[in-house]
Amino acid sequence: MSGEVRILITGSEIGSYPTVLPLNSMFRPDVPLLKLQVEIDWMPRSPAQALSSLEQRLVEFCPSLRQHECRGHRPYQILCSDEQKASGHRPIEVSLALAHLLEHVLIDALAFITSTPRVSGLTGAHKNSTQRFDIFVECSDASLAPFVVWLAVSWVSAALDGTPLDGAGRPALEVVRALYQKRAEPLPIEDLAAHLGQEPGAVHATLLWLEQHTFVRKGPCAKSRGRRDCYTLQGLA
Ligand SMILES: [Zn+2]
Repeated sequence: MSGEVRILITGSEIGSYPTVLPLNSMFRPDVPLLKLQVEIDWMPRSPAQALSSLEQRLVEFCPSLRQHECRGHRPYQILCSDEQKASGHRPIEVSLALAHLLEHVLIDALAFITSTPRVSGLTGAHKNSTQRFDIFVECSDASLAPFVVWLAVSWVSAALDGTPLDGAGRPALEVVRALYQKRAEPLPIEDLAAHLGQEPGAVHATLLWLEQHTFVRKGPCAKSRGRRDCYTLQGLA
């Protein structure tokens, strides 16, 4: 029902973008921005309906999207009604709407991992293209960018395809959050499992997946004088 979709990440970098800051008054000038460049092709037969279905599936993976304060233009505001989506003077640009959803999933993941109450973002379409978009999201730690970009694309793609989440779904996000919170002291599996209130076996499976996808790395644990392995987020010092 969602039709064929192509989502291609063409660039991802962290920096300060002084010309972008005034476009969202909620951006904090001292927080770096993740700039994600993306190309999207999506031409569903019933755009407003396809977008609504996508949002409903996405919110099952990511219920906290309901708490987002979206200040986009009316038909593009996330989780507004079908009537509101179809009510604009111009037909809704679904690829732009999809890029905007990626922005919200990025925000949601970054806010969750870093326990930041407010993370702001912005999605802009390129002037001469209906497929190219730049997404800007406050990202206080560059080491988190690869994981949250993967998560946003993967979750939106799964919601589009109606398939289960790859990478153990939410558990991967929870493990990354725990590793980020404990970044000053890399943890062995047992301590990580205790911190998460989960069985070490379940945490091990998630860690293995994260390690295979190079989001975390394993190394001898200083705490146990190298007798056990500890895990840390890839890219953290
Ligand atoms: Zn929004």
